[in-house]
Amino acid sequence: MAANWYPIVDANTCINCNTCLDFCVHGVYKAGESAPEVVNPGACVEFCRGCSKICPNEAITYFGDD
Ligand code: SF4
Ligand code: SF4
Repeated sequence: MAANWYPIVDANTCINCNTCLDFCVHGVYKAGESAPEVVNPGACVEFCRGCSKICPNEAITYFGDD
């Protein structure tokens, strides 16, 4: 589990489809008004890119990704 690696959702690009939220089994996200909120960044799996790969709008990047 990683506090130095977690998703950042670009609310301007996100279409709030919740695909990322439905995909992640670690409870990192919760539904939000205009985009999912990252409520549990410490539960994100270091170097996992699962949610960004299935995001239809390339709205997800990662804190810790240089
Ligand atoms: S990167 Fe992986 S563990 Fe982290 S929020 Fe996305 S799907 Fe979940
Ligand atoms: S999968 Fe991408 S577009 Fe859909 S809610 Fe998540 S960040 Fe937004």
